[in-house]
Amino acid sequence: MLYLAGLAENSIVDGPGLRFTLFAQGCPHRCPGCQNPETWPFAGGQAAAPEQLVERIAQDPLVRGVTFSGGEPFAQAGEFARLGRLLRARGYEVACYTGYTFEQLFQNGNADQQALLHNLDVLVDGPFVQREQSLELAFRGSRNQRILDVPASLAAGRAVWVRARRWVLDEQPPEA
Ligand code: SF4
Repeated sequence: MLYLAGLAENSIVDGPGLRFTLFAQGCPHRCPGCQNPETWPFAGGQAAAPEQLVERIAQDPLVRGVTFSGGEPFAQAGEFARLGRLLRARGYEVACYTGYTFEQLFQNGNADQQALLHNLDVLVDGPFVQREQSLELAFRGSRNQRILDVPASLAAGRAVWVRARRWVLDEQPPEA
């Protein structure tokens, strides 16, 4: 089961287009200035099975993207990996926010975290850093965070920014 702090059925701020966003319960990062501190405790949250969530998401045919947010989805990586696999099999674009960097997950992530990486299209990585905060950024809170093409990053063995302009509205991605 997944433990969720909440859901947003029609989000336009967690990625391009109309998206269904799931907020994981529990976060170990405790970034100063976090917008969602109520998601930090690992106790509690609403339990939901990935299969149930897929059926609920499918009720709205206008939703074509799903975002895992937090809390920290990689703290429940096994269940989010299962959900990501089910969603991608149905053609959804699956994005995930994390307070870890791609490099931390790619090089040192456990088996569940590796599985989650392999079931994502886009990763917005890194902790929220208050001194790097900018309201001009699209889909990320602070300038240190990156919007990564996960299949391309896994294939290259390094972080690769998304190229799709619908994800990168604020500035040209660096040549990473
Ligand atoms: S990783 Fe996200 S949810 Fe967790 S403390 Fe940082 S900003 Fe908040």
